[in-house]
Amino acid sequence: MSAPAYRVIVGMEVHLQLRTRTKCFCGCLAVYGAEPNVHVCDVCLGLPGALPVLNAEALRLGVRTGLALGCTVARRTKWDRKNYFYPDLPKGYQISQYDRPLCTDGAIEIDGDDGATRRVRIRRAHLEEDTGKSFHVAGTKHSRIDLNRCGTPLLEIVSEPDLASAEEAGRYLEELRRIVAYAGTSDGNMQEGNLRCEPNVNLVYENGDRTPIVEVKNVNSVAGVERAIRFEVERQDREYREHGRTSKNTPRSTRGFDDTTGTTVHQRTKESADDYRYFPEPDLPAVDVDPALVEAERASLPERPRTRRLRYVQALQLSAYDAGVLTADRRVADWFEAALGPDRTAKTVANLLTGEVFARLNAAGKAIDAVPFPPARLGELAALVDGRVVNAPTAKQVLKLLWETGEAPAAAVARLGLAQVSDPEAVRAACEAAIAAEPAAAAALKAGNEKAGGRVVGHAMKALKGKGDPTLVQRTLRQLLGLPS
Ligand SMILES: [Zn+2]
Repeated sequence: MSAPAYRVIVGMEVHLQLRTRTKCFCGCLAVYGAEPNVHVCDVCLGLPGALPVLNAEALRLGVRTGLALGCTVARRTKWDRKNYFYPDLPKGYQISQYDRPLCTDGAIEIDGDDGATRRVRIRRAHLEEDTGKSFHVAGTKHSRIDLNRCGTPLLEIVSEPDLASAEEAGRYLEELRRIVAYAGTSDGNMQEGNLRCEPNVNLVYENGDRTPIVEVKNVNSVAGVERAIRFEVERQDREYREHGRTSKNTPRSTRGFDDTTGTTVHQRTKESADDYRYFPEPDLPAVDVDPALVEAERASLPERPRTRRLRYVQALQLSAYDAGVLTADRRVADWFEAALGPDRTAKTVANLLTGEVFARLNAAGKAIDAVPFPPARLGELAALVDGRVVNAPTAKQVLKLLWETGEAPAAAVARLGLAQVSDPEAVRAACEAAIAAEPAAAAALKAGNEKAGGRVVGHAMKALKGKGDPTLVQRTLRQLLGLPS
């Protein structure tokens, strides 16, 4: 009997650290990588009598992120206590939001596995405070606790189970990360724990059976999320086929992901909301969200990265690959657009930027803001290329000058006599000489061997001191050999 077919169903919970200077309910600095337990106070440690005060910037960034995710922002929101014991949570509860989340009903669009656009709905996004961190000391039975992170603001973003594979889950996270980076509300750095995710995975079979939902914890990379989901899919299918485990006879559970083995390990059966004994936070008043704040944030949101990427393909006629590279970082996309102009094509600007400019930045380990000249200068060079004033090798030479001395492209071309040779007579003479010097290659080219023709082209270009108009050289050579141009 063939194995029964199933669909994979994945929902995602993401904890996003908002980029505030200080913590959510106290004045301690919210910084990563400090000495352990230096950024703490009586509020974030939950000492008796300490009272929290909401950081307005955390609320603003929560609103802004929600809007960037297409959510509706609540007019009124409130705080709740989520009670549980954990060593890195000295208060014994987290200040969170239960029944009145700040944001609801958003969506992120991604490329689905079938190539169509997949709309992943976002059920809610609520503010809460982070816990501290515990570290296991290798080779001992001891753990250590760092409470610096206690009380830093998080936005928990809960999707509907609209993802159908590990790969879609990966693309969802990448898109979410780009959206918050574009909006400027979070660094979204998974290594530093700015963005932590917990995929919920189960399978639905054709006969209607479902495997119990598993929530996977401790995943710290997009690749890790994809591996964890693939592992869960195989494990749950095996449990179903071999032991008949379904949501009817097996409870939901939480499993931890082990990055070294790529496996998940049972931690506990899943708590229900009742187990957390949520109740309204008595120390904080409800929040009336100022409609003027919401409108100001909405008005200042940038174009979504995916919209921008599709626009580059459709309106600027760039390849999907180039569009993806240019929009991965908003600063790069802004720089690129500042280099565009009516006398140059987007393709030529993109080629110069992702080719020579990126190569130089990568070699120096620098980001786009380290380019030593304004974008308009690169645009001027692209115009010279498109106007066939310089060929590609010369453009490289001009860019080097621009980078090192700041000399304007047109001035450098004039000063050094770098304009390409487009004089038909001069090109014809060079091509004739090339055919005479490379008779075997010329014959091969004539016989249809385009590769062999490279020797002839090379010879002609050399005769023109590397400045020949490549299109004209090609066309002239073909004419001289009696080939169709
Ligand atoms: Zn504090």
